[in-house]
Amino acid sequence: RAASFQASAQASAAASDSSPLVSLRDVHLAFGQTEVLKGIDVEVKQGQAVSIIGPSGSGKSTILRCITGLLRPQRGTIEVSGVQVDGLKTEADFIALRKRVGFVFQQYNLFPHLSVLENLVISPVKVGGQPRAKAEARARELLAKVRMEHKEGAYPGELSGGQQQRVAIARALAMQPELILFDEVTSALDPEMVGEVLTVIRDLVQDGLTCMLVTHEMRFAEEVSDTVYFTEAGHIVESGPPARIFGSPDSERTRAFLQRSS
Ligand code: ADP
Ligand code: MG
Repeated sequence: RAASFQASAQASAAASDSSPLVSLRDVHLAFGQTEVLKGIDVEVKQGQAVSIIGPSGSGKSTILRCITGLLRPQRGTIEVSGVQVDGLKTEADFIALRKRVGFVFQQYNLFPHLSVLENLVISPVKVGGQPRAKAEARARELLAKVRMEHKEGAYPGELSGGQQQRVAIARALAMQPELILFDEVTSALDPEMVGEVLTVIRDLVQDGLTCMLVTHEMRFAEEVSDTVYFTEAGHIVESGPPARIFGSPDSERTRAFLQRSS
């Protein structure tokens, strides 16, 4: 089943380079009686950085969790690399999906009993079946990319929050995902550490990483995004290039939110 996921993903990528890497169409999701997503349409093309901004509780994290297959919508379709995520059934299919989609959260969730290097090596070896030497070489490259190469022998508890989050980003990259989802990765950090994490993400975006960012850092979203989506109460109120969303939004609701957030 994992093989079939891989094969169909590659076939569809080959069929059309311009089709989006991620697409959500009319996604509806409720927890019990509470409708949380009320018809969400989102597209991310390869190499793009897409931001989702909006008030707390508006559905941003729920959108990301649908893309990872952790939540299944009651209506609508979700495709990642041409594969319908909402149609996956077996554990092997979900594992294959999670190799393609990296997820970094507000809480860094590193393995506390493993060194920094080992945090990056374990999944490529155990889940990806990579030879250990190759996984270590790649882990060192990634630690250099997030400016943490000097800490490969340290344990997570010995690092600052900003350092742990940079390692968590490197760990997500270690699985060579096609896409990374960043969910408020700087929200739990002390203010002086926010910049170092944003610098790492900015570098990755400039390298062409495809990503979706849920963030409260409005200036950062404006700077790095190709497209910005503004969500409120389970709807996409509007979307577009950052210059328009931040400079002259169509919706009064977007305008009011941006005024509160600046
Ligand atoms: P955001 O990330 O924009 O702050 P979320 O996507 O986390 O918003 O949540 C959207 C809404 O769904 C909120 O009202 C939240 O309380 C509700 N919600 C999220 N997860 C659950 C859950 N597991 N069970 C019930 N309600 C949930
Ligand atoms: Mg959230």
